[in-house]
Amino acid sequence: LAITIDPVTGVVLHSNEKCTGCNAVPGKSGAEKQETSSCKVGCPAHINIQAYVSLAVKGRYQDALQLIKEASPFPSICGRVCPHPCESSCKRDQIDQPVAIHAVERFLADVDLNADKRYMPRIKDKREEKVAIVGSGPAGLSCAYYLAQEGYRVTIFEKAPVLGGMLTTGIPAYRLPREIVQAEIQLIRDMGVTMKTGIDVGKDKTIAQLRQEGFKTFFIAIGAQECRRLNVEGEDLKGVYSGLDYLRQVNLGKPVPLGKDVAVIGGGNVAMDAVRSARRLGSGNAFVLYRRGIEEMPSRPEEIEACREEGIPINTLTQPVRFISENGQVKAIQCIKTHLAEPDESGRRSPVPIPGSEFTVKVDAVINALGQEADWSCLTPECACTLTGWGTMKVDPLTLQSDDPDIFAGGDAARGPKSVIEAIADGRQAALSIDRFLNGQNLRLGRGVELKAITEPQKEKYDPAVRAQMPCLEPQARLKSFKEVELGLTKEAAVQEAQRCITCGSCCVQACPYDIMQFNQDVTKAVKCDLCVEKRGRNEIPACFAICPTRCIYWGDPREFEGKYKFL
Ligand SMILES: Cc1cc2nc3c(=O)[nH]c(=O)nc-3n(C[C@H](O)[C@H](O)[C@H](O)COP(=O)(O)OP(=O)(O)OC[C@H]3O[C@@H](n4cnc5c(N)ncnc54)[C@H](O)[C@@H]3O)c2cc1C
Ligand code: SF4
Ligand code: SF4
Ligand code: SF4
Repeated sequence: LAITIDPVTGVVLHSNEKCTGCNAVPGKSGAEKQETSSCKVGCPAHINIQAYVSLAVKGRYQDALQLIKEASPFPSICGRVCPHPCESSCKRDQIDQPVAIHAVERFLADVDLNADKRYMPRIKDKREEKVAIVGSGPAGLSCAYYLAQEGYRVTIFEKAPVLGGMLTTGIPAYRLPREIVQAEIQLIRDMGVTMKTGIDVGKDKTIAQLRQEGFKTFFIAIGAQECRRLNVEGEDLKGVYSGLDYLRQVNLGKPVPLGKDVAVIGGGNVAMDAVRSARRLGSGNAFVLYRRGIEEMPSRPEEIEACREEGIPINTLTQPVRFISENGQVKAIQCIKTHLAEPDESGRRSPVPIPGSEFTVKVDAVINALGQEADWSCLTPECACTLTGWGTMKVDPLTLQSDDPDIFAGGDAARGPKSVIEAIADGRQAALSIDRFLNGQNLRLGRGVELKAITEPQKEKYDPAVRAQMPCLEPQARLKSFKEVELGLTKEAAVQEAQRCITCGSCCVQACPYDIMQFNQDVTKAVKCDLCVEKRGRNEIPACFAICPTRCIYWGDPREFEGKYKFL
């Protein structure tokens, strides 16, 4: 990075060679820029996208990856499945289209995955305290990754026979190949985290027992692993499956045979994954029934487009009324057409059945993919945690601490069903809280500062440039296997795409509260206090240290700071 700390002397350095000047236009310096980049605000983990994208342009792939991993340990996963809210906020759209940030992120992560030696974060001195994490989905794994770096003895307890949560048992392999999830899990194992599968906390081991075994804090990351009921007549017939159970079976290599005509009810991720999996497993007429319109579908737009390419019908404005059986087996669905009411207070438009529009659809099987909820049997009576009216764990949104002080919770268990990157962000925040909790520090200090996104970036010197298109397997080739559909950008395409970024966030010149960073108009680069490098070259001391009468500015060997100063 342009500003770094010299590991030997502790001096903060500014590299003229690396500084891009944040693309300020001469005569219109970086100092006119105000806020942070909108992509960083849009990313739930607030990854420093502007910086990693510009490092990618320079071919500094590992530096870029390291920067991403400060905020998210799984760019290889998010580069594939993240709904990329960063791109919806990207200001490049004021010129043409948003930067394909997720595709650049995936490229950087794949370079690391294929490297002889993968990036491994530095692990601090070992700590004695033991931390238990319940659930090995992205929230639990991310928390383990950051706690392991602090030196804690971390154990993950996982109920399922496999690790990864929805990354392994929900999202199908054609979107997220299993070897990628396994490689990321292995890296966390290599960092010293213990992982135990087949342990259902609440049943096989209680929180009380774990406390007795010496675990000092807990991170509950159990996700939302159960499917909500449809409350439609005939829901318990043979041949009606829950979407999560169906995908779990498929992902564990034991798919349920469904027959040719399969109706998948819902419009979210689970519905799209279930219908595309059923199609790949031989159900030639697998289709979706959704009670609102295409625009209202909660699924990622890429998924809807993939269904279209794969010839999977999505029947919108259609609601199931009852399931019709023959000898206890579902045979048809009675449906009704709907229209959308005016938006309510939350802006959502409710489906309203149209009287007299009933019709029947023949089916061999039905998959209910309507909603998810958590199973709270892990909370045995010794836990003083409470749940919200939505059936999620009640936590302080800033610290993720529950009503029981040594128990923290995050991911889908605390938010309801959301996304991988939100779970990852929670895992990191929980790790920070747990570290402070175990050190007796203030959990809230310095947190919760709202990031403000720039609205009018400088864009004068940029010409339109076409956004990179993700190369994909041909639709016909996809339907025969679970091979990965999106193939990733080449190096040339990724760097070209990264060059489309107009680096529109504010830079060091505004960020420094002491006005130390200055902007050199001639070379459009930032210049920084270098603690009087020339004087030090002459064995003199920095001028500020020499002049300060109260010694509030200190200069010396960093080892002399130990014990005298404390990080807050
Ligand atoms: C089919 C599907 C597709 C999805 N697609 C996307 C997508 O494309 N992009 C995206 O961003 N998000 C997607 N999501 C959402 C995303 O997967 C979740 O938001 C995310 O996995 C939540 O992470 P988590 O760690 O909170 O929980 P989970 O991933 O659900 O992991 C929770 C883990 O806890 C374990 N557990 C539960 N109870 C216990 C217990 N008592 N003891 C021990 N272990 C326990 C579970 O077995 C599980 O392994 C999808 C979800 C589904 C279901
Ligand atoms: S202008 Fe400042 S923030 Fe931007 S690259 Fe240079 S040192 Fe970094
Ligand atoms: S994790 Fe998602 S939101 Fe964050 S930078 Fe990556 S693609 Fe964007
Ligand atoms: S142009 Fe670059 S810095 Fe600006 S919002 Fe888009 S990705 Fe972020």
